Amino acid sequence: MKRIFLSPPHIGSYEKKYIAEVFESNYIAPVGEHITRFENEIAERFGICGALALSSGTAAIHLALRLLNVQPNDIIFCASLTFVGSANPILYEKAIPVFIDSEPETWNMSPSALERAFQKYTQMGKKPKAVIVVDIYGQSADMDTLLNICKKYNTPVIEDAAEAVGAKYKSRYNGSFGDYGVFSFNGNKMITTSGGGMLLSDNLDAIRKARYWSTQAREPVVHYEHHEMGFNYRMSNVLAAIGLGQLHILNDNILACRMIFQEYVSELNHISGIDFMPEPEDYESNRWLTLMTIESSMMSPIEMINHLEEHSIESRPVWKPMHMQPLFKGTDFFSHNPDNLPVCEQLFKTGICLPSGPGMTKEEQSRVIKCILSKILQ
Ligand SMILES: *Cc1c(COP(=O)(O)O)cnc(C)c1O
Repeated sequence: MKRIFLSPPHIGSYEKKYIAEVFESNYIAPVGEHITRFENEIAERFGICGALALSSGTAAIHLALRLLNVQPNDIIFCASLTFVGSANPILYEKAIPVFIDSEPETWNMSPSALERAFQKYTQMGKKPKAVIVVDIYGQSADMDTLLNICKKYNTPVIEDAAEAVGAKYKSRYNGSFGDYGVFSFNGNKMITTSGGGMLLSDNLDAIRKARYWSTQAREPVVHYEHHEMGFNYRMSNVLAAIGLGQLHILNDNILACRMIFQEYVSELNHISGIDFMPEPEDYESNRWLTLMTIESSMMSPIEMINHLEEHSIESRPVWKPMHMQPLFKGTDFFSHNPDNLPVCEQLFKTGICLPSGPGMTKEEQSRVIKCILSKILQ
């Protein structure tokens, strides 16, 4: 039986053409015309002044923290329901993460938990240096409310839109909301360069500075002169060519993912105990992955995941929240409703990511749906 993957790369018809151009020009590395074109197209398309192509989304978050002058022992508020790539850069700078629960409406950062976190840390005289808001599974956080809170406390925002390339909130593209925005082009994301990321900002001086840091902080002189510590974080020109090609199919990918989501919903949502990730009005998720929840009394996600695996279908649990990770043992955490189980823990306990690759065929999806039904109805 052919294996059905969770979110395999989906390649269009332009990627090879652009790569061929790179080879013909011999600008294989490190920089060249394609990386600049990729940055310009991203900036224009998503309505942001500056874009910097990097080796990963994690690198982009790291440089954003450095641009905000994060120092050891500084407090950083970060969404708990996320991939560890959102939070690891906090540790790179020896800063202290404080994790914030999700709200049920968006599955993203809970405004009420964020407000309580600000109140407590302001009282302690430890104003956070930054807030990392995540758009999980390609759906925007409640930007108006969250940004208002951050503004009230005069704290800059990093929008981790790694999974939300092409998603919108009130008609505006995700990645454009914070002081800094971040995209990922890792192999399993909405579009891919096989590996890579982008730092976004309207602050062109900041983008210039980050570009300098990303190339080992090399001074613009002939010999190798260095005044500051840098990183080897720049994207290669070859990978930028793949990214340029992928931009041609981004809209089609999103349409396909949204249709896949709709199909799962129409075939499974009528079953009591089965639910799907909500999408509030005026939000436009890219539905990077379809997220289903199964009521705990029916079965655990792992039982379903194992069942699908037996039929050669890949699925995954919801991200295990950061505050539950041994890596972050002892870190502070703010719950959406302190009287209840945290929302992100509940989602981890019941949620499952279903195969959602934009290239998945109708036949493949109906195989997945039948397999899910056979487990639920057994
Ligand atoms: C993938 C991802 C990252 C990290 O991106 P990489 O390109 O893999 O470094 C960060 N945050 C979230 C939410 C992600 O899903």
